[in-house]
Amino acid sequence: MTIPDKQLAAVFHNHGNPDNVKFEEVPVAEPGENEVLVNIKYTGVCHTDLHALQGDWPLDVKLPLIGGHEGAGVVVKAGPGVNRLKIGDRVGVKWMNSSCGNCEYCMKSQETICPNIQLSGYTVDGSFQHYCIANATHATLIPESVPLEVAAPVMCAGITCYRALKESGVQPGEWICIPGAGGGLGHLAVQYAKAMAMRVVAIDSGEDKKELVKSFNADVFVDFKTDDVVEMVKEKTGGGAHGTLVLSTSPKSYEQAAAFARPGSTMVTVAMPAGAKLGADIFWLTVKMLKVCGSHVGNRLDSVEALDYVARGLVKPFYKVQPFSTLPEVYHLMHEGKIAGRIVLDLSK
Ligand SMILES: [Zn+2]
Ligand SMILES: [Zn+2]
Repeated sequence: MTIPDKQLAAVFHNHGNPDNVKFEEVPVAEPGENEVLVNIKYTGVCHTDLHALQGDWPLDVKLPLIGGHEGAGVVVKAGPGVNRLKIGDRVGVKWMNSSCGNCEYCMKSQETICPNIQLSGYTVDGSFQHYCIANATHATLIPESVPLEVAAPVMCAGITCYRALKESGVQPGEWICIPGAGGGLGHLAVQYAKAMAMRVVAIDSGEDKKELVKSFNADVFVDFKTDDVVEMVKEKTGGGAHGTLVLSTSPKSYEQAAAFARPGSTMVTVAMPAGAKLGADIFWLTVKMLKVCGSHVGNRLDSVEALDYVARGLVKPFYKVQPFSTLPEVYHLMHEGKIAGRIVLDLSK
């Protein structure tokens, strides 16, 4: 196949609103040492992409930036020193673009906290372009049985939920409580939790969300608008959840989580609303001996395992495919909280 010199990419030059995103012609990059060029076929759109656009976080963004970190495509060119991947391989481009491999964290396979980490669609250009550079060590091989459009949302949302569930320490048969269970991350978290033999309390609101999480076999649904969340979780779980995965962007979720958590359990923070602080009562955190643990994305093995659950039919991302050109609209919908599941962009359109 011939690789063009130039391509269309969704670029923003300055932080701001979705109208700052422009489709521009940019050069196709040349893969360097241990890098591959990936022809992106599909890419998910994650809330983090919106945070990067808005400049919400205290972590510098490359500018101008091509966002996107849920890419799925095909390797079309390999740079010098690439042994692991070959042309034609189907790979995922995820949030973790690369890590140094040599620091104390990388040596412990905690590569997501490597101080030299590079992030796709944040510190380096990401998947909102037809040809994207990926690190050959970190790009995730996608099993043949998993369509690329299905793999795309797994590359951030799926890996993130899967790793966070591991961090919760909840054992088979124990209760995991998931505030925000009906959202883009939540609907995957419910499925991974069930596949990992956990019992699930899903917290969200409305009949649509209830139907969605029940279709993934959540054991209990708690409506935060109409139910007494703390009392109901305690009652249904016989004394509190063994672990809580906070995927809701409401700081109130943390207060409630500290109240319904089983003594000795872990609360895992995943959602990162701009400027939010942890609002849990320190008295209860202390006397219940609760652990609070942050978790973002996962390491290379988490990525492979997260895709394997999908390949085995245990987890099915809920998504809608739209043309690449609709990215600005997707940001608007996301900003208004109007997206159910995930939106996956088709780069061919
Ligand atoms: Zn993401
Ligand atoms: Zn490192």
